[in-house]
Parts: sequence; C-alpha cells; structure tokens
Amino acid sequence: MSRLRESDLNRLFDVDTRARIIECFDALKGTPDFHSALKWRSAVPELCQLDCSLSHLGAHALGAAQMIDVFRFFGALSLDLRDVPGLGHGRLLSLVRGESFTPFLRSIASGSSFTAVCVTEASGGSDLQSIQTTAVRCQGGYRLSGRKQYVSRLRQADLYLVFANVAMLERGLTVFLVPASADGIVIHDIAAHGLRGCSWGALELNQVFVPKNLRVGGEGQGFSLFSTHFSYWRCSAAACAIGAAQTALDYSRKRLQARHAFGGPIGRFTHLQQEYARHAARVHMAWLLVQSTAQRLDRRAYCYVDAAMAKAESLEVAIAAVQWAMLVHGAEGYCADLGLEKILRDLMGLRIADGTPDVLRGQVARGLLGETLYSESLGRQAVPLKMLRERQLW
Ligand SMILES: Cc1cc2nc3c(=O)[nH]c(=O)nc-3n(C[C@H](O)[C@H](O)[C@H](O)COP(=O)(O)OP(=O)(O)OC[C@H]3O[C@@H](n4cnc5c(N)ncnc54)[C@H](O)[C@@H]3O)c2cc1C
Repeated sequence: MSRLRESDLNRLFDVDTRARIIECFDALKGTPDFHSALKWRSAVPELCQLDCSLSHLGAHALGAAQMIDVFRFFGALSLDLRDVPGLGHGRLLSLVRGESFTPFLRSIASGSSFTAVCVTEASGGSDLQSIQTTAVRCQGGYRLSGRKQYVSRLRQADLYLVFANVAMLERGLTVFLVPASADGIVIHDIAAHGLRGCSWGALELNQVFVPKNLRVGGEGQGFSLFSTHFSYWRCSAAACAIGAAQTALDYSRKRLQARHAFGGPIGRFTHLQQEYARHAARVHMAWLLVQSTAQRLDRRAYCYVDAAMAKAESLEVAIAAVQWAMLVHGAEGYCADLGLEKILRDLMGLRIADGTPDVLRGQVARGLLGETLYSESLGRQAVPLKMLRERQLW
C-alpha cells in the first residue's frame, strides 16, 4: 500500500471510527438492532461513504485494496455485519452508465436505503441459466413473476435487485431494481443455521410492475453485471472470512498459553505448535490472495478468476482454522458462550452464499484451462462472457 493510500485509509477509517464501531458493537449486542444494517449505518454514518464507487457522487472513498481492511475488521467482530460497510449490493447500481441511479446511490450512501440481491431460485442458485423468474414487457416497463429464495436481508432492505429473464429473448438475463413496497411482493421467512437475524427468506413476485427506468443496464446484461459485481463482493466476503479466522487464531494463541494440562501450558506440546503455525500460515496466504485480488480490482484488471479463487480458498482456510480453535478449547470450544461455534456456523453459510467452493473452483479451472473443458464438464455450451477470459497466473 502506498503512503497516500495508507493515509486515506487512516483518515476515512481512523482510530476514532474504529473505536466508535466497537462502542456501537457493545451497545447493540444482544438487542434486535444489532442485526439492522440501517441502525449500524446511522450510528456510524461514515461506513456508508467508504466505497470507491461513490467517487462520482463527490464522496471521499476507498479503493478495494483499502476496503478489504474494513471488511476484515467487521468480519473479525461478527460475520452478521459483513455487509454493513460500503454500499452493499447497492454497489451494482454504480456499474451502469448514466445518472439514472444516482438518487438511489445517494440514498444508500446516506444510510437511508439498503439493497438485497435476489438471484437464487428453487431451480438452482449456482446455475444462472436455470433462472425461471420472467420479465414480460408491458406499457411503460415490465411485469415480473417468479420466486426467489435464500435471500439475505429481505425484510431489512427497501430495494431489491432482481435477476430475471426477459420473455421471448434468448440470453435475456436482466437486472431490475424493485422497491420493496411494490404491489405483488410477498416475503416468506426461512430459518437459517447461522448468520441469524439477517432476515433470510424467499421473495414471491406476482406480476410486479417495474418501470423501464428501473431496469439496471440493458436487456441481457445480467450475466456481465453479475460477474463484475460478484468479483468485488466475493473479495469482500473473503476478507470478512479472514477477519473471522484471525479472531479464532487469537483465541487459540491465548488458549495455548493460558490452559494448563499435565503440569504445564498446552502450548508446549509441539503438535499444537505445528498446527497453530500451519493455520496461521494458511490464513496469511489466503489474505495475500485477497489483497492481490483487491489490487487487481483497483487496477481494473481481469479478476473474476482471482475473486473466485480468493473466496473459495479463504472460506475453506477460515473454517479449518475455526474448527481447530474449537478443538484446542476442548469442551469450552463447544459452548455457545465462547462464540467459536457461532463463527463456524456463520462461515458455513458464507461458504455457500455467492458461490460454493465447487462452483467457484469450476470458474477458476474455466479461466485457467479454457472454455472447452468447462462446457464439457457441464454437458452444455457455457454462456460466453467477456468477463470470463483466460487468466495466466504466472
Ligand atoms: C447464508 C446464505 C446467504 C445467501 N444470500 C443470498 C442472497 O442474498 N441472494 C441470493 O440470491 N442468494 C443467496 N444465497 C443463496 C446462494 O447464493 C446459493 O445457495 C448458492 O449459490 C448455491 O446454490 P444452491 O443452493 O441452489 O445449490 P446448488 O446449485 O443446487 O448446488 C448444490 C451442490 O452442487 C454443487 N454444484 C452445483 N453446480 C456445480 C458445478 N457446476 N460444478 C461442481 N459442483 C456443482 C454445489 O457446489 C453444491 O455443493 C445465500 C445462501 C446462503 C447459505
């Protein structure tokens, strides 16, 4: 990180801001407001302003290489807060040309709006080509019908980014901005194993009217918006996971020193030292991968493969580190009070969200080995994407 960038980070995400976030964490913990992204964003308003995609709104903002430090900080506190800083999924609106979404971006950046992204359906989350939600053209816009599921923050968001196929159009995957107040919307809650309180659920769209000016980008641009947005988003999820893993390693370090068994600290057992060193190295390697992805994002270099790699591997590395930390704590590690089991449950959710490791590694292999083998693995021709091109690692 250059000197200038370091000073930007310190100015925008300074010691006072960090101290206020921790104060806010202590004040909100255990209350229903803890899970409210909007509460957090109103308590610490600068959080919304940090994202670089705001620069065209005149806000001071951080690049991806700096934002990952912010995400790591939040991941270390609680994975429930992974989408609190920055613009969240609202960032996708900054990817389209023109000013049409500027009022929405302003409202998200001021902390008065929050956006959920609605991609997954019963027919499959990994396979975007299987999306059944349809947008039928009508006077002044579109009518959207379908059912999304496993969507985070459904009840907390006031805006939904819905992926739907424009009827009668080949390769018509398109993104629509749908206000939560639109007629024809029904929400169903789903109970989650982790990341609880973030309002997870299904979204029914019954002939929901969306005016043409709320179509995000062109018809058929859904795949490319997905790839661009999720490259950033996966990088942020990876950074949050690294933060959570570092918290678990901090717990382990203290435990190795403080816990005595058989006449001395358990940290004197070399097999535990070896494992500690192995997890610390793997977490550090994953962090370097996240950093290099973020630097590529800032350079606007091709990074779909890097982001997929960073997210898949960081989540696996983080889960392994937390599981080991639980083991080192014996029965105490299994107690809900310690908090490690919660981190593990949350990471297990994050591992699936925004692309499972299998699917992401499939995209990495696609970037490294080429389209032909990828299409053969699917048994069909993959959608050709500008974003998905060959990547040489060395
Ligand atoms: C905590 C959490 C939050 C989420 N938030 C959102 C959200 O906000 N919005 C939203 O739209 N969705 C959200 N999701 C849904 C998530 O994105 C999907 O669950 C995910 O993409 C996987 O899709 P699926 O559940 O349909 O699994 P499937 O696609 O059915 O996959 C099932 C299994 O098959 C494997 N598999 C599938 N295809 C391949 C392949 N080509 N190669 C190798 N293996 C394959 C997968 O790895 C997986 O193990 C969330 C999920 C979780 C757990």
